[in-house]
Amino acid sequence: MRARTADASSVRFDLVHPTPRQLRDGVTCGLIAESIMVPVLLTLTFVNHTSVRWGYMLAAVGCIVASIAYQGVFTLATRGEASVRSQANTWFVIACLALAGLACIELSTATPAALYTPAMLVGVIFVSIVGDRRMQVIVDLYAMALIALIGWVQGLRGGEFLVSMVIYASTIAVVNFICARTVGSLTGQINFSQSLDSLNECFDEVGIDAARPTSETFAEIFSRGLPYVASIVPAQRVAVFTRSGSLQRYTLLASWPDITADAGDLARLPAVATSLANNSVELDPWHCVMPVGYAQDGELVMVIERSVPDGSIDPRTAEEVGLLAAAFLRITSRVNFVNGLHTESRTDPLTGLANRRSLMERMEMEMAHALRAETPLSVAMIDIDHFKDFNDRYGHVVGDTVLRSVAAMMVSNTRDQDLVARYGGEEFCLVLPDTDLLGGHHLLDQLRNGGRDSTTDLGVTMSVGLTSWDGIEDPMSFIDRADRALYQAKSSGRDRVVSIAAYTES
Ligand code: GH3
Ligand code: MG
Ligand code: MG
Repeated sequence: MRARTADASSVRFDLVHPTPRQLRDGVTCGLIAESIMVPVLLTLTFVNHTSVRWGYMLAAVGCIVASIAYQGVFTLATRGEASVRSQANTWFVIACLALAGLACIELSTATPAALYTPAMLVGVIFVSIVGDRRMQVIVDLYAMALIALIGWVQGLRGGEFLVSMVIYASTIAVVNFICARTVGSLTGQINFSQSLDSLNECFDEVGIDAARPTSETFAEIFSRGLPYVASIVPAQRVAVFTRSGSLQRYTLLASWPDITADAGDLARLPAVATSLANNSVELDPWHCVMPVGYAQDGELVMVIERSVPDGSIDPRTAEEVGLLAAAFLRITSRVNFVNGLHTESRTDPLTGLANRRSLMERMEMEMAHALRAETPLSVAMIDIDHFKDFNDRYGHVVGDTVLRSVAAMMVSNTRDQDLVARYGGEEFCLVLPDTDLLGGHHLLDQLRNGGRDSTTDLGVTMSVGLTSWDGIEDPMSFIDRADRALYQAKSSGRDRVVSIAAYTES
C-alpha cells in the first residue's frame, strides 16, 4: 500500500467557515498586525515632519521583516505542515507589502492625518481576508481603540476627535465588508474544490486490495478521508458507523479528530435513522448526516458534528455536503466492486451460486432494506428429493450435472434482486426481497414446475419450504423457520411448496 503524501492540514483553510482553531490563530495574527502599527503611529506623532516619512518607511519595512520572521518560525515549528497560521501570515506579509507601497505614496503626498489610513487598513484588510465576522469585530474594535488612543495622544479633542473616529470606523466597516464578501467567498470556493480534490486523490491512493477484509479497507479509507470532511464542513467531530444486521446496532468504523474519542452518542441522533431510511443527506445547523454506502457488515453512515460558529445552512453548504456524500459513495462502491471481482470466497465452485457466507451477508442487507423500506422479505429453502437414490443410480458425475442445471434453472427463473445460494449438498436457499408469502409461494411453485420441466428426464423433483421475515429475528432463526417448512414439505409427500407465516408458530 502506498503512503499518502498530501496532508489534510494543508487544505484546512476555509476562510468563510474557519474552525475554532483558525479563528484563534486569525485573531492572534490580526492583533499582532495591529500592534505593529503602534510604533509606526507613535513615530508619526513624536518626530518632526520629514523624518516622520522615513520613520514610517522604516516601520513598514520592520513590519515585513517581522512578519516574514514570524512565518518562518511557524513553518519551522510545524516542520512545513503549517496550516492556516502560515497561510494567514502570508496574507499578513502581503498586507505589509501593501503598507510599504502606501508609505511610498505618502512620501510625496503626506499630511499627518492621511498617515493613519494605510496603517489601520493593514490590520483591517488582514482580518477581512483571513477572518470570519467574530474575528473581524474583535480586531476592528482593537484597531479603533488604537486610533482613539493615538488621536488622543496627538491632541485631538471634542468634535475633531469624534469626526476622525467616525471616518475611521466607517472606513474600516466598508473595507471589511467588501473584502470579506469578495475574498471570503472566493477563497471559500477555492478551498472547497481543493479539499474535494485532495479527498478524491487520497481515495485513489488507498490500496484497494481484494484479499483484505473490506471492513479493514473501509476503516482505512474513512480514517484518511475524515480530516478532509472537517475542512469541507467545519466540524468538531466526524464519525462513520456501520449499521449492522441486528438492525439497531451501530459500530464505530472511524472517527475524527480522535478514533479513541467516544463518538457513540452521534449514532443516536434521530437524523441518522432518517438519513438511512430516506437515503438522504440530513443537514441542520448542528449536524450533518449522510449515507456513504454499504459494507459487508451493513450500511455505512457518516455523522458530522458541525462547529458551532459555522452552524449555518447556506445553499453552498448544502451543495458541498451533497458532493462530499457522492465522493464517499463512489469510493465505497468501488471497494465493494473490486472485492466483488474476487468472488472465490463467496461463490460455490460447483454451481457458481452464492455460498453460505455471501447468503448471510446478503440476508442482513436485505433485512436492513426491508426494515427501512417497510417491504416484505421472504426466504425459501429448496431441497432435491431423493437425491441420494439418484446419485446411487446414475453416479455422482451425473448428479453434479443435475445440481448445476437446477442452479441455472433457478437463476434464470428469478428476478435480478433475488439471490439464489447453494446452502449445502443438494439444498438451495432463495432470498426474495419485496416479496410476501403469497407472491413467494406463487414464484416457487413455478420454479418447482420449471425444475421438473428441465429435469424430468432425470427424474428429479424438489421440495420447498417458504417463510417471510417477522421484522425482528436474526437471519438464522429466519432460515430455521424456512427449514421447518421444508421438513413439512418432505414429510407431507415431497415435490411441493409449504409456507409458514412468520407469526403462526409458537
Ligand atoms: P430427501 O431430501 O428427499 O429426503 O432425500 P435425499 O436423498 O435428497 O436426502 P439427503 O439430504 O439425506 O441426501 C442428500 C444427498 O445429496 C447426499 C448426497 O449423495 C447428495 N449430494 C450432496 N451434495 C452433492 C454433490 O455435490 N454432488 C452430488 N452428485 N451429490 C450430492
Ligand atoms: Mg434431498
Ligand atoms: Mg438434503
